[in-house]
Amino acid sequence: MKTNPVPRNPVAEHVQRIPRSGIRDFFEIVQSMTDVVSLGIGEPDFVTPWHIREAAIYSLEQGRTGYTSNLGAPKLRKAIARYVATHFGVSYDPANEVIVTVGVSEAIDIAIRAILNPGDEVLYHEPCYVSYNPSIVLAHGKPVRISTSAENGFALKAADVRRAITPRTRALMLNFPTNPTGAVLPRSDQEEIAEVCIEHDLVVLTDEIYSELTYEGQHETIASLPGMRERTIFLHGFSKAFAMTGWRIGYACAPAGLTEAMMRIHQYSMLCASIMSQEAALEALEHGREPMLAMREQYLRRRNFLTHQFHEMGLSCAVPKGAFYLFPSIAPTGLTSREFALRLLEEEKVAVVPGDAFGPGGEGFVRCSYATGMDQIETAAARIRAFVGRLRVPATV
Ligand code: PLP
Repeated sequence: MKTNPVPRNPVAEHVQRIPRSGIRDFFEIVQSMTDVVSLGIGEPDFVTPWHIREAAIYSLEQGRTGYTSNLGAPKLRKAIARYVATHFGVSYDPANEVIVTVGVSEAIDIAIRAILNPGDEVLYHEPCYVSYNPSIVLAHGKPVRISTSAENGFALKAADVRRAITPRTRALMLNFPTNPTGAVLPRSDQEEIAEVCIEHDLVVLTDEIYSELTYEGQHETIASLPGMRERTIFLHGFSKAFAMTGWRIGYACAPAGLTEAMMRIHQYSMLCASIMSQEAALEALEHGREPMLAMREQYLRRRNFLTHQFHEMGLSCAVPKGAFYLFPSIAPTGLTSREFALRLLEEEKVAVVPGDAFGPGGEGFVRCSYATGMDQIETAAARIRAFVGRLRVPATV
């Protein structure tokens, strides 16, 4: 038998089409350097509060080391349903409308896979979190971006959603407060977008992982609007507000039929989220509000300081209403966002993420995470100021 000495590319075509995360590539460079002050990673600098860690340790001591129900431990699902009803005003039945996942990342993945037929289109606002586009492609869907702009606070408008709809549009992906811009979606815009979604029978996937980190006004979910609960998959988790990134724990809430569909994918891929993390998440929901609010207070102080710094440097920067990112425009420097980030890293040893990592609409911006200690932020701000000063940004911008 004749054998081919060069095997054909074994990687599936749709996987080949997925780009590597711009953030990962950039941070490989950062990790190879020493003494870098990083405003790069979207990860709280706080360690998970002690009472949450202690709950996990206690559960291990008790010998709770097995699988849980595929949907998640019933006591955690009940606590999630209570939490979502209290803080978001939407009621879900913990028996069949809540599924505990491995971070919100898994919830996004199974939600998309549960609803898409090949070729279905999913709309998402952009700049946005790096995983939405590839998750849609991996589910054989077609990502369709809706650009948002700094001029109107990166808000999503119903008219833009309407314009992007085709007969193949299946769903709209939302993320407010937004990574990387910190934008929120005012209730009036939510209402108009909900109307469009109902008219065109779209499913709404709403990633509200930063909802607790809202600094002005009360966070509200589109799922609580009339006619929306039945067509919305509400995605949330513990990584950000409770400083629990490493525990890998999140959840999705949706009507029973959609939850069952997500569960079928989850049960064959993940089986269940780690029991230890589920125990910790229960403690976070039951007793974690005060420490969470204390962390939010710190983020708010840092946000105010850093925004002020950028304004003083002559770089325009919307005051983010939520999450823990600043998204200043670096256009007046004449550099692309990648050039800006690379030179800042080389010349001043400060890491920020080039805006184009969040989609083409992020060009001309960089993302600065303020989920890092105030002393680091102060050092970073002084170094950025020195760098921008050398570029001679006109004072009027
Ligand atoms: N969604 C958004 C908008 C994020 O910014 C992130 C992490 O940065 C995630 C989801 C992932 O969250 P998790 O750690 O729960 O998987």
